[in-house]
Amino acid sequence: MVRLRFAPSPTGYLHVGGLRTALFSYLFAKQQGGAFIFRLEDTDQQRLVEGSEDNLLEMMHWAGLQMDEGPGIGGEFGPYRQSERLPIYHQYSQQLLDAGHAYHCFCTPEILEEMRNAQKAKGEAPRYDGRCRHLAADEVQQKLSGKAGHVIRMKIPENETVLMSDLIRGTVAIETSQLDDQVLIKADGFPTYHLAVVVDDHLMEISHVVRGEEWLPSFPKHVLLFRYFNWEAPKFAHLPLILNPDRSKLSKRQGDVAVEDYRQQGYLPQALVNFIALLGWNTSDDQEIFSMEELIEKFSFDRIGKSGAVFDREKLNWMNQQYLKDLNSGDLFELLAPYIAETPYRDEENSQLRKVSEVVQSRLTTLADIKSKLALFFEDKPTLNDAHLIEVLHEESSRIVLNEFKQQAGKAEEMTVESFLALMKSVQKATGIKGKNLWMPMRFAITLEEHGPELPQVAAIFGKEKCLRMIDQALES
Ligand code: GLU
Repeated sequence: MVRLRFAPSPTGYLHVGGLRTALFSYLFAKQQGGAFIFRLEDTDQQRLVEGSEDNLLEMMHWAGLQMDEGPGIGGEFGPYRQSERLPIYHQYSQQLLDAGHAYHCFCTPEILEEMRNAQKAKGEAPRYDGRCRHLAADEVQQKLSGKAGHVIRMKIPENETVLMSDLIRGTVAIETSQLDDQVLIKADGFPTYHLAVVVDDHLMEISHVVRGEEWLPSFPKHVLLFRYFNWEAPKFAHLPLILNPDRSKLSKRQGDVAVEDYRQQGYLPQALVNFIALLGWNTSDDQEIFSMEELIEKFSFDRIGKSGAVFDREKLNWMNQQYLKDLNSGDLFELLAPYIAETPYRDEENSQLRKVSEVVQSRLTTLADIKSKLALFFEDKPTLNDAHLIEVLHEESSRIVLNEFKQQAGKAEEMTVESFLALMKSVQKATGIKGKNLWMPMRFAITLEEHGPELPQVAAIFGKEKCLRMIDQALES
């Protein structure tokens, strides 16, 4: 059975790169009728951040990635928090010690520091020199019974080429001379990521491992550990890096990296998921908009590229707009409510707020954009202060249109979409002005924007009095 896991460390928030790893794992698991597992890799006690587990799970839920097994969900292969599996790692590190694939190392941090400095001084890359590899058995026993702290390291074979097979990169080779005798059990008794990930991927019967390219340097160590244990390794896919537009590695400094930030700014989960699916993956026909069902159906490892994928915020914005436009008015209003609640207009009548939401729907890039759209509708006389608009409104033909409209509207009954359109027609007739010269001044005077929401709809929401006030303002400008 196909089984994939998402295995984040609880060191803060869910990174967009983490969401992509989770998403691809989820898509393949679902496509193959397999299981999607959440495993918390919390063995680095120094880097734990309070509340991260909850945040990770909440973001997975928000993104619509339903987990089949995990902490709080259960499953046959638990516990799913590595900190609750310590005896398991000790059992397996003992197995490696017994087989001669690992050894106790008693080097203190001071000794290691000295070693590093000496290597650096000689222009060598710092690495553990293996001095505890050859301690005699009785010496090891003696040190273990004393107070000396120790770690357990894996033995990297000498002069060997390790071959690693990756679903995206094919076969990659590395010389063992490049590898360090990796620590497997730390002085605090916790395993390192390297031991825990291999043991758990095996015991949890993981069939495919999807993770970021930053784990490639660790991959040979994992391949060796699988071999030492005599276990069949899962298949691996290392995803290309996610880059800033300047092709540097995606970083907090250049924009948001936490999924949480995108949620807060009012990106829809469907849009973010769709966007993230295309970071490194595509279909041959350049399709851009995918539902989750389509992603599940079409996903394949063959169509993931090796080169970095640029996180293009403009494209995300465009995508979010597409998803926002598709919402029915009930869903839209419900999603906008928390953002409206942050404005001074929160107590306006619901029916009005709802109408306004519909009128500006196609102008929203994010849900949060609603906050800047309300003043126009709920202030008695929103102020016109855009120099370009004022310039156009000063033109002779603009003044003719506005004056004519003012006169005719004064005689009209109520303002509706239909009556507004009829008025515009008769202004056209009376003035002989049409097209852009007719519509632009009206649009500028009433919506105060060059590319605002639909003019007749706005006029209808304003009603006659407010439309006239806006026209007066334009004429006085
Ligand atoms: N715990 C690792 C992380 O935080 C998981 C790496 C892997 O999937 O093997 O990303």
